[in-house]
Amino acid sequence: MKIEFIESRLHEIEQRLLAEMGRAEIEARELGGPEYQNRSDTSETKEAVFDQTTAAWKQYTLVREAIARLHNGTYGICADCGRPIEPRRLESVPWTAYCLHHQEQHDREPVL
Ligand SMILES: [Zn+2]
Repeated sequence: MKIEFIESRLHEIEQRLLAEMGRAEIEARELGGPEYQNRSDTSETKEAVFDQTTAAWKQYTLVREAIARLHNGTYGICADCGRPIEPRRLESVPWTAYCLHHQEQHDREPVL
Protein backbone atom coordinates (compact mmCIF):
# COMPACT_ATOMS: atom_id res chain seq x y z
CA MET A 1 0.00 0.00 0.00
CA LYS A 2 1.23 3.46 -0.84
CA ILE A 3 1.76 5.98 1.95
CA GLU A 4 -0.33 8.62 0.15
CA PHE A 5 -3.22 6.20 -0.03
CA ILE A 6 -2.99 5.32 3.67
CA GLU A 7 -2.73 8.97 4.59
CA SER A 8 -5.80 9.99 2.62
CA ARG A 9 -7.70 7.10 4.20
CA LEU A 10 -6.61 8.17 7.69
CA HIS A 11 -7.59 11.78 6.98
CA GLU A 12 -10.98 10.58 5.81
CA ILE A 13 -11.50 8.70 9.10
CA GLU A 14 -10.23 11.75 11.00
CA GLN A 15 -12.83 13.99 9.34
CA ARG A 16 -15.60 11.50 10.02
CA LEU A 17 -14.65 11.35 13.72
CA LEU A 18 -14.50 15.14 13.98
CA ALA A 19 -18.00 15.35 12.53
CA GLU A 20 -19.18 12.66 14.93
CA MET A 21 -17.73 14.51 17.93
CA GLY A 22 -19.29 17.75 16.71
CA ARG A 23 -22.70 16.13 16.49
CA ALA A 24 -22.35 14.58 19.94
CA GLU A 25 -21.40 17.98 21.36
CA ILE A 26 -24.53 19.58 19.93
CA GLU A 27 -26.59 16.69 21.24
CA ALA A 28 -25.07 17.08 24.70
CA ARG A 29 -25.80 20.80 24.68
CA GLU A 30 -29.41 20.17 23.69
CA LEU A 31 -29.75 17.67 26.51
CA GLY A 32 -28.78 20.42 28.92
CA GLY A 33 -31.49 22.67 27.47
CA PRO A 34 -34.81 23.56 29.13
CA GLU A 35 -36.89 21.11 27.09
CA TYR A 36 -35.02 18.22 28.70
CA GLN A 37 -34.96 19.45 32.29
CA ASN A 38 -37.97 17.42 33.44
CA ARG A 39 -37.23 14.23 31.59
CA SER A 40 -36.21 11.22 33.62
CA ASP A 41 -34.22 9.61 30.82
CA THR A 42 -31.88 12.58 30.43
CA SER A 43 -28.98 11.33 32.56
CA GLU A 44 -29.00 7.97 30.81
CA THR A 45 -29.03 9.65 27.40
CA LYS A 46 -26.28 12.02 28.50
CA GLU A 47 -24.19 9.06 29.54
CA ALA A 48 -24.72 7.42 26.16
CA VAL A 49 -23.69 10.62 24.37
CA PHE A 50 -20.65 10.88 26.60
CA ASP A 51 -19.60 7.27 25.94
CA GLN A 52 -19.99 7.84 22.23
CA THR A 53 -17.87 11.00 22.40
CA THR A 54 -15.20 9.26 24.47
CA ALA A 55 -14.99 6.39 21.99
CA ALA A 56 -14.79 8.82 19.05
CA TRP A 57 -12.13 10.88 20.86
CA LYS A 58 -10.02 7.80 21.64
CA GLN A 59 -10.16 6.68 18.03
CA TYR A 60 -9.41 10.21 16.85
CA THR A 61 -6.25 10.21 18.99
CA LEU A 62 -5.19 6.86 17.51
CA VAL A 63 -5.75 8.16 13.97
CA ARG A 64 -3.73 11.33 14.70
CA GLU A 65 -0.89 9.20 16.09
CA ALA A 66 -1.00 6.95 13.02
CA ILE A 67 -0.69 10.01 10.75
CA ALA A 68 2.30 11.17 12.81
CA ARG A 69 3.91 7.74 12.40
CA LEU A 70 3.38 7.98 8.63
CA HIS A 71 5.43 11.17 8.67
CA ASN A 72 8.24 9.93 10.87
CA GLY A 73 8.52 6.62 9.03
CA THR A 74 7.45 4.27 11.82
CA TYR A 75 4.02 3.53 10.39
CA GLY A 76 3.21 -0.17 10.07
CA ILE A 77 5.78 -1.19 12.67
CA CYS A 78 4.60 -2.66 15.96
CA ALA A 79 5.30 -0.28 18.85
CA ASP A 80 6.07 -3.23 21.11
CA CYS A 81 8.21 -5.63 19.11
CA GLY A 82 9.34 -3.48 16.16
CA ARG A 83 8.22 -6.08 13.64
CA PRO A 84 6.07 -5.17 10.64
CA ILE A 85 2.34 -5.24 11.36
CA GLU A 86 0.39 -7.75 9.25
CA PRO A 87 -0.64 -5.99 5.98
CA ARG A 88 -4.17 -7.38 6.20
CA ARG A 89 -4.48 -6.01 9.72
CA LEU A 90 -3.31 -2.56 8.56
CA GLU A 91 -5.86 -2.68 5.82
CA SER A 92 -8.78 -3.28 8.19
CA VAL A 93 -7.42 -1.22 11.13
CA PRO A 94 -5.19 1.44 9.47
CA TRP A 95 -4.64 3.35 12.74
CA THR A 96 -3.24 0.41 14.68
CA ALA A 97 0.14 0.69 16.42
CA TYR A 98 0.49 -3.00 17.27
CA CYS A 99 0.83 -6.33 15.55
CA LEU A 100 -1.95 -8.83 16.12
CA HIS A 101 -0.08 -10.60 18.91
CA HIS A 102 0.61 -7.43 20.89
CA GLN A 103 -2.83 -5.97 20.28
CA GLU A 104 -4.27 -9.09 21.89
CA GLN A 105 -1.97 -8.54 24.86
CA HIS A 106 -3.11 -4.92 25.21
CA ASP A 107 -6.76 -5.95 24.91
CA ARG A 108 -6.30 -8.23 27.89
CA GLU A 109 -4.92 -5.42 30.06
CA PRO A 110 -7.45 -4.10 32.54
CA VAL A 111 -8.90 -0.73 31.55
CA LEU A 112 -8.14 1.83 34.25
ZN1 LIG B 1 4.26 -6.74 18.22
